[in-house]
Amino acid sequence: MSASESLLCDLIITGRRGWVLNYIFTGKVQGTFNPSSFWGILVIHLLALMAPFTFTWAGVFAFMLMVFITAPLGTTMGFHRLLAHGSFETSKPLRYFLTFCGCLALQDGPIQWVATHRLHHKETEQTNDPHSPAQSFLWAHLVWNFYKHPLLKDLESLRQYAPELCRDPVFHFFNRYYAVIYAILAVLVLGGGSLFGGWKLGLSLFVWGFALRTVYTWHTTWLVNSVCHLWGYQTYQVPNNSRNNWWVALLTFGEGWHNNHHAQPRSARMGLVWYELDMTYWLINLLHHLGLVKKVMSPHLSVFKSGST
Ligand SMILES: [Zn+2]
Ligand SMILES: [Zn+2]
Repeated sequence: MSASESLLCDLIITGRRGWVLNYIFTGKVQGTFNPSSFWGILVIHLLALMAPFTFTWAGVFAFMLMVFITAPLGTTMGFHRLLAHGSFETSKPLRYFLTFCGCLALQDGPIQWVATHRLHHKETEQTNDPHSPAQSFLWAHLVWNFYKHPLLKDLESLRQYAPELCRDPVFHFFNRYYAVIYAILAVLVLGGGSLFGGWKLGLSLFVWGFALRTVYTWHTTWLVNSVCHLWGYQTYQVPNNSRNNWWVALLTFGEGWHNNHHAQPRSARMGLVWYELDMTYWLINLLHHLGLVKKVMSPHLSVFKSGST
């Protein structure tokens, strides 16, 4: 029996922290209900259902381009490795550009995102973890987005977790208007596409480049919070259940090496051996060779097997 199977049996038999038994029911919710998040996520999922009826190859290209801009560039390299962990340094314009790309992922503004993520690292799988799988799988994957966490509910509380970002008015602007920026760009793509290629092209670019792409990048990012704390192998013995999961890593451009990441969060590199593909690190490395980023943090722990595979 593999470690993940034995872990599952353990969970089912003992109901340890309800990870499996609470698959459907989210257990105790944390925070106050945030209707705008709930309705926003619901509406974009409904719009994404139009994808089969609005297919064009231009739409597929828009999907891939926007995934590249918002996932490896914006969320993974920008919000996560640069802003949340300071894994490397850039010029201010590049820092703001990556932040802009991250805003288009529609996963909170940069200050909120970074504060939420730092709280996850600080309180991993404990009561104050914003998306703890100990609450339930569904909570960690999706439902936590519908609630404002009591420790992250206003600017004063965010300041505790992201003080350096709170000192910069540009980050305040992005934090406040990220959804407006997203909406303006989506409407421009819809209008521009309609103007140059008719309403069918405009609608296709809008549905594939914005709605479907957003749903894809949401769920792949959320898999790191849910699946990567349950299934996969552990290279490092850390005081939590974080896991390295190859298929999540493929879908998230390297973020699925989550056990490696919890062991050494400041490292710009998450895939540590040849088969742990880390496309975001390749990008960071490329920009480093081009002289656009500097002080790239390296992993400091040696790789060893903890016995859990
Ligand atoms: Zn984690
Ligand atoms: Zn992190």
